[in-house]
Amino acid sequence: MGVVESILDFLLILLVVNGLFNYWAFLRAKKEAARVQEEKAKLKPEVEEEIEMVTDNICGCTLPKSEAYVLIKDDQRHYFCSWDCREKFIETCL
Ligand SMILES: [Zn+2]
Repeated sequence: MGVVESILDFLLILLVVNGLFNYWAFLRAKKEAARVQEEKAKLKPEVEEEIEMVTDNICGCTLPKSEAYVLIKDDQRHYFCSWDCREKFIETCL
């Protein structure tokens, strides 16, 4: 076996090892990406649960409680999407 063949063999082994290493790194990155995605999916419902939704009985729309106009009548809270809906409720229901 000549020196040139030895070098070629060595380079071939190096190429294969390098290829395997790249593949391993690729699999690791893929696994990591999947794990991050999974964690994001786990976190999402918790965030959505924190936003309490209320229904405007005048126009029927649903909106976050924090953005709603509130009217308290007989210890009951009524929520509205706008000042107009609140006014309409006062006119028609009070
Ligand atoms: Zn409304």
